[in-house]
Amino acid sequence: MPFRTDLVDAIGRTPLIRLRRASEATGCTILGKAEFMNPGQSVKDRAALYIIKDAVQRGALQPGGTIVEGTAGNTGIGIALVADALGFKTVIVIPETQSQEKKDMLRLAGAELVEVPAVPYANPNNYVKVSGRLAEELARTVPGGAVWANQFDNVANRQAHIETTAPEIFEDTGGAVDGFICSVGTGGTLAGTGIGLKQRNPAIKLGLADPMGAAMYSFFTKGDLSSSGSSISEGIGQNRVTRNVEGAPVDFACQIPDEEAVPIVFDLLLEEGLCVGLSTGINIAGAIRMAREMGPGHTIVTILCDYGTRYQSKLFNPDFMRSKGLPVPTWLERKSAVKV
Ligand code: PMP
Repeated sequence: MPFRTDLVDAIGRTPLIRLRRASEATGCTILGKAEFMNPGQSVKDRAALYIIKDAVQRGALQPGGTIVEGTAGNTGIGIALVADALGFKTVIVIPETQSQEKKDMLRLAGAELVEVPAVPYANPNNYVKVSGRLAEELARTVPGGAVWANQFDNVANRQAHIETTAPEIFEDTGGAVDGFICSVGTGGTLAGTGIGLKQRNPAIKLGLADPMGAAMYSFFTKGDLSSSGSSISEGIGQNRVTRNVEGAPVDFACQIPDEEAVPIVFDLLLEEGLCVGLSTGINIAGAIRMAREMGPGHTIVTILCDYGTRYQSKLFNPDFMRSKGLPVPTWLERKSAVKV
């Protein structure tokens, strides 16, 4: 069919783009799956669609019903757009530290936003826990009922990647893929794509690229949940074993400091025209490390998670970056959309 039938049909089947600098630096073919080309401009559209489809199939979501979620932004944007297209309402609980651009987009897509302080998961006022309680309350009170998307522990999330992301990568590379690596928010992308690829060829290696401050590196290398340092990346950085990440068949793991990932994002924009967020920088840094580990001649795929305009006020704002002690290229001072 020469066109996609609607927004839901426009999710997925994203292109693989060869990352020139990363490939040349390693002698490997490093490919980025351009998830920012989904309608909600992130990888999370896939999980949003599968979570909503699953709730409808289970009969938990009736016409006109409400989807409630605790999200750092991208999942909420995906859910809100899919909900608009299918006739549902959206309520999003979001940590107030998330970028203004993501909050603005959520409101624009019709989501009702509940902003809460950013506190750790152990705290009962953590955004994920608040969203669960709110969903229970709304399920009793609003017409059409309400469901909690629960992206961290709802495995409809990773199923999206088992059934769509993995086969797309396998088909688009003609099966000639040696490794896949990405970071973890819920773990749906890592585990789902890893499982789906290994179903097709068990020799494909699965890699984890973890930001500082997250515990997945320690979990997959030593089996404990220790962490140190911090990262300005958004949407990734997990400190517990979610149901989505549980059992991810990880073969290789690395920890990427922001100082390593930030220049990759800036160079990618200036020299290859790809405008992405910092979780993508961490993914590409991980792909480069995995390529060096595997040696030249291999094909490694990673995820270009979301579009960079979502971070104009942070990653692409020289003042913000300086305040975090992170490197700012001189060209960004001249081109930044945020006036300094
Ligand atoms: N990058 C960004 C920008 C995200 O928002 C997310 C999801 N929170 C991820 C990466 C990680 O995806 P996943 O939840 O599948 O682990």
